Amino acid sequence: MTLRISHLHAVEILDSRARPTLAVTLATPEGVQVRAAVPAGASTGSREAVESRDRERDRYQGQGVLRAVGHVNGEIARELVGRSFPTAAAVDAELIALDGTENKTRLGANAIVGVSLAATRAEAAQRGQQLWQFLAELSGTAPRLPVPHFNVVNGGAHAANALDFQEFMLAPLGAPSMAEAVRAASEVYTRLKARLAAAGHTVSLGDEGGFAPALERPEEVLGELVAAIEDAGYTPGRDGVAIALDPAANEFRADGHYRVAGAELSSDQLIDRYEEIIDRFPVWSVEDGLAEDDWEGWSRLTARLGPRAQVMGDDIFVTNPAILRRAVESGIGNAALIKVNQIGTVSQTLEAVRVCREAGYRQMVSHRSGETDDTFIADLAVGIGCGQIKSGAPARGERVAKYNRLLEIDDATADSLPYGVAVR
Ligand code: PEP
Ligand code: MG
Repeated sequence: MTLRISHLHAVEILDSRARPTLAVTLATPEGVQVRAAVPAGASTGSREAVESRDRERDRYQGQGVLRAVGHVNGEIARELVGRSFPTAAAVDAELIALDGTENKTRLGANAIVGVSLAATRAEAAQRGQQLWQFLAELSGTAPRLPVPHFNVVNGGAHAANALDFQEFMLAPLGAPSMAEAVRAASEVYTRLKARLAAAGHTVSLGDEGGFAPALERPEEVLGELVAAIEDAGYTPGRDGVAIALDPAANEFRADGHYRVAGAELSSDQLIDRYEEIIDRFPVWSVEDGLAEDDWEGWSRLTARLGPRAQVMGDDIFVTNPAILRRAVESGIGNAALIKVNQIGTVSQTLEAVRVCREAGYRQMVSHRSGETDDTFIADLAVGIGCGQIKSGAPARGERVAKYNRLLEIDDATADSLPYGVAVR
């Protein structure tokens, strides 16, 4: 099979936060036509592949992406259109070589990832395979339906409230199927809304569709979540609906301390706080519990929480295979968040997944806080068989699109795929 590219075109569109991003269309002479749209983060790791923003103050406050669009329609199209590639991975290699920088700064990670996602889709279509099937073959894994992690309370960089922790997620680990997991999240979300409203809180939404109440202490939010899980008739915990946190500690690190609800905590004091939280609440996973530059703290965090919880790295690992290898050697974390646009191509993302798998690190596929209707990550999560995904609340179209795609994959495979967190 070869992948011949007859058409490649990017256009500036909007993401879910009213910021510009790219949609890329790609076609082959055999009649395959695909589209991919590019997400963008707000609480980013400093070592992520660098997206190109126009920085023209008088247009979208400098956030336009016309330069990246121009790179796709100009330099990249000139290089790719009319050529045949053995695989989409070969297209990725070409993009990396053409860019020529470590962090994709020249052409822009947003330009490159749009083309990489589209090329991968095109190869799957050319082979007559579902995207998740093709990705499973590429990554050499048994496909699996992931436990969806629903971010139902937003704080940090994703909401205009005083909550320092960024994400409070429902994880229906005990659900018997994808459909029942989605149902549980929707029912708990609705109960949570009623509880917050009854207590006089605003039920307006943050960037990922979770509520953004004027609460400060993470423990108060966790209390509300447990009560909402019970109100909806589910059991809080790993046999029912558990909770996952993404404090995104980079965002509240200041002067060597962590500022949580007005308190200045050292790394060890914050680790103590997480231990107390895990003692009191059914929290099964903690992502970015400490900041990306606090590797010594991470080492103690992993030792203390690791036996009881998933210790997930996002901003610290940035889906980068080289950083992940160093983390594995140093015993930092025991799981990694997987975001294609943090590293910039699908093939490098699959390499990061391989590093995790070989080291026994779990993986969770993730959306970004700025999203589109693109559902690539749903297929990616199924294909790599990691058993975990996060895509925000069970509300807002750009979040729900991913969960709906998972429901459709479940239906199309007639319940033949296993559901649940992969055991390593
Ligand atoms: C995250 O931190 O996990 C996240 C999804 O946020 P962002 O996309 O803003 O980095
Ligand atoms: Mg995160």
